[in-house]
Amino acid sequence: KMFNEIQELKGNIRVFCRIRPFLSGKKDKQSIVELIGENDLVVANPSKEGKDALRSFKFNKVFGSATTQAEVYSDIQSFIRSVLDGYNVCIFAYGQTGSGKTYTMTGPNGATSETIGVNYRALNDLFKIATSRESFIDYEIGVQMVEIYNEQVRDLLITDGSPKRLGILTRSQPKGLAVPDASLFPVKSPSDVIKLMDIGLKNRAIGATAMNERSSRSHSVLSIHICGKDLKIGSTMVGNLHLVDLAGSERVDRSEVIGDRLKEAQHINKSLSALGDVIFALSQKSPHVPYRNSKLTQLLQTSLGGQAKTLMFVQINSDISSYSETLSTLKFAERVS
Ligand code: ADP
Ligand code: MG
Repeated sequence: KMFNEIQELKGNIRVFCRIRPFLSGKKDKQSIVELIGENDLVVANPSKEGKDALRSFKFNKVFGSATTQAEVYSDIQSFIRSVLDGYNVCIFAYGQTGSGKTYTMTGPNGATSETIGVNYRALNDLFKIATSRESFIDYEIGVQMVEIYNEQVRDLLITDGSPKRLGILTRSQPKGLAVPDASLFPVKSPSDVIKLMDIGLKNRAIGATAMNERSSRSHSVLSIHICGKDLKIGSTMVGNLHLVDLAGSERVDRSEVIGDRLKEAQHINKSLSALGDVIFALSQKSPHVPYRNSKLTQLLQTSLGGQAKTLMFVQINSDISSYSETLSTLKFAERVS
């Protein structure tokens, strides 16, 4: 019900802000953000005082640092379930490295049933509902997982051989596959998916160099493709769910990085601003949506806009030293919401 109301107000885009808790041992740190109700947040500039220091932001929802993974999921559940009715849904996690993007989407290392993230909960839920409908709808569920690094798409579900560069189709495909050459595995149960995601996460880590963790420099896209056949009337429908853990949004000081690191930073910058531009255009109902400016927006083109639903988790830290990144993250989010 809440979602329908929001949808009328804002089209198909919603933005949820999540505040990462202080990690253990740092509980008494001072927070620069304060929640006001469920939708508003105030940030205090630590170098100013009084009213001048404060800036407020409004979102479809703000999750305080004590919010559990289950609580987050319960707020997006109906959204995810709509994939089974033939909707395309994109969920992004945006924020600086260390702000909890992977925690929200996947969970922490060694996650338990309480701390697993959106990805696993979504799949469990989709299987559960598909099973409950099996007497009248036959669902086939397939999974792909790719990474976009330096504007190149790489298959993360490859188990042997070296990954080749993959092409993207930007026109709507019968099965909704934007990267038809990436491995597509049919899955029958949540445990099938966990096995695949483990492969994907391992492949993502292999690219990491000693210098910088690859996972924060690339976008990972887990795509769940669903095809449902109505057993009575024989019609079929297709839905796609894309779960995207974006590269870290932190600005890199150009005077401090050179070579590969600078190239990475430029690619990340470009693709995140292209994503921002696309979502902004959609939120404005602009007739021109600039999908072509990055591989990420090309890949998601048929799942962003139109009937598709988009949700952005905006992840922030609330410690004083993160102030400028937190503010720039919130400004990015404000523009697209
Ligand atoms: P990112 O993917 O944005 O770089 P991570 O998800 O890796 O950030 O989070 C950084 C650290 O903070 C990790 O150790 C993670 O487990 C922890 N963390 C993030 N969000 C939460 C949370 N809501 N509750 C507890 N720990 C969290
Ligand atoms: Mg991460």
